[in-house]
Order: sequence, then C-alpha cells, then structure tokens
Amino acid sequence: AKEQGDGFYHFYDSLIENQRAENMQLENDLKSALHGGQFTLYYQPKIDAGSGEVIGAEALIRWMHPDFGVVSPAKFIPLAENSGTILDIDEWVLREACRQNKSWQSQGLAKFPVAVNISARHFYQSNLIPMITRILNETGLAPECLVLEITEGTLIHNVEYGVQVMEDLRKMSIHISMDDFGTGYSSLSQLDRLPINEMKLDRSFIQGLVEDSKKSSIVRAVIELGHHMDLRVVAEGIESPDELRYLTELECDQFQGYYFSKPLPSQEFSSFVRQWDGS
Ligand code: C2E
Ligand code: CA
Ligand code: CA
Ligand code: CA
Repeated sequence: AKEQGDGFYHFYDSLIENQRAENMQLENDLKSALHGGQFTLYYQPKIDAGSGEVIGAEALIRWMHPDFGVVSPAKFIPLAENSGTILDIDEWVLREACRQNKSWQSQGLAKFPVAVNISARHFYQSNLIPMITRILNETGLAPECLVLEITEGTLIHNVEYGVQVMEDLRKMSIHISMDDFGTGYSSLSQLDRLPINEMKLDRSFIQGLVEDSKKSSIVRAVIELGHHMDLRVVAEGIESPDELRYLTELECDQFQGYYFSKPLPSQEFSSFVRQWDGS
C-alpha cells in the first residue's frame, strides 16, 4: 500500500510539475503574443427576449498559440493578470472590439453595443477612462455602443473608488454589466449603490435550472430583484429550448448561449446577424 501511495504522489507531483512548467511557458509566451498577432476576438450574439433580434455581441478573446493551438482565456487570463500583461491585452481587446463594431455599422449591420470583459486589475488603473476615451475617438464608435462587463469581485478591492469609476463611465453613456452575477462576494449588500445597467446570470445558475426547483427559485428571485432595481437581466449559457422557455417565463430580458450560437469569428458573426430570423 505504501508503495502505491508513493507512486501516486510521484504521479501527482509530476502532474503539478508539468502544469507549473506549462503555465510558466504560457506566461512567458504571453509577452510576445500581442505583438505577434496571436490574439483574435470571437463574438457571441445576445438575443432580445421581446423581439428575438440580435441586440448585442460579447467579445471573447482567443489565443492562437503557435505550438499549443487555441488556448482558452479561462487558462491564460489568470496568468496575464498575475504578470501584468492583462493591461495591454485588455487595451487591445477594447480597441479591436470598438473598431470591429464600427466596421459592422459601416457595412450596414444594425447598430448594437459590443460588450468587453474588463479585468479587476484594469478597473483600478487611473488611465482607464482616458484610455477608453482615446479608443472611442480613434475608432469613431459612439459610447452608447460599448458595454463593459465587470465581475462582482472587482469591487471588493475598493468599493468607493469602483463606484466612482462606474459613475464616470455612466456620465459618458457607457453601460456597465455585472458579470457572473451571484458567484462572487457582496453582490446583494452593494447592489443598491452600484450604477449598473445590467446583471448577467452566470451559466452555473442556468445549468439544470429546469429540473432543480431550488435553483429555479433562486433564478426567479434574482430576476425579480434585478427588475426592481431597473436593471436588465441577461442569462448566459443557454443550451436547450427548455432553458429558453423557462427563462422566457421568468421574464429574463436577454439571452446568450450555444442554443443560439457559439462565439464566432467576426466574419461569421456578421453573416449570422444577416441571416438571423428572430421570429
Ligand atoms: P465569461 O465572461 O463568463 O464568458 C462566458 C463564457 O461562457 C465564454 O467562455 C463563452 O464562450 C462561454 N459560453 C457561452 N455560451 C455558452 C453555452 O451555452 N455553454 C457553455 N458551456 N459555454 C458557453 P470563454 O470564451 O472560454 O471565456 C471564459 C472567460 O474568460 C470569460 O467568462 C471571461 O471571464 C474571460 N474572458 C474572455 N475573453 C476575455 C477578454 O477579452 N478579456 C478578459 N479580461 N477576460 C476575458
Ligand atoms: Ca462576460
Ligand atoms: Ca467572467
Ligand atoms: Ca460566466
């Protein structure tokens, strides 16, 4: 038994060791990825519950690594946050998403906002607002056509300052979405003071919603709460017609998920919008 145990720990150690080595290489490769043009943005449609139309897009980053192929943001964003590369990546994502949205508008696609995920670290950079202003000027995108998605965790660092930044953004007509709502800290105790426009229910609340009566009670209560606070409520990660039907009954305002479309490269996204029949 002892031998087996040792074997396990050797195996386990080498797993950890491999993981660590891989992370170190990825973290190192991140530095050149931006200049090497290895990042690209995919776009996932947001669907309006009332009209069934595409009324937005969320930009999601992909890393085309020369050796490893596509690396998920769930893997490299935390590494980029550790190393500080996230600031350059977020800036690139913002510029690229704004440029792309302006370009769709010029091609005659209906006007809709593009949503960009902003890391907590970036939210506290004093240059955030000047940077966004510069990018909007450079790309010519109207501020109403940009949404920032931040997670609840963003605010635990410094609520006072965070609320100030959000108020400044609101004055610029940029909308703010509370991402992964319900999975972080302090959501309820802070909610009434946050100048946000939207709350996004994490996929973990949507999974199994139809079968699980406790889960559905929570979702029902959260949607009601959101509406009381004049927020629009978006459900992410909808995969089945049952989930969609259920969330429609609960009067969720917007939908996102594989049921409608996976995140798509920009060209495919615009084709999707053109051929989409919301009825
Ligand atoms: P998130 O903001 O919660 O984004 C939603 C994630 O769920 C995306 O994963 C999306 O592809 C996936 N998803 C959407 N619909 C479905 C569905 O129906 N089923 C399933 N199983 N998944 C669905 P993705 O693109 O891998 O991104 C993971 C996370 O990485 C994001 O979670 C976000 O926190 C972060 N992220 C992605 N792009 C960026 C970025 O440009 N900047 C920053 N700072 N973070 C990003
Ligand atoms: Ca998001
Ligand atoms: Ca997120
Ligand atoms: Ca999520």
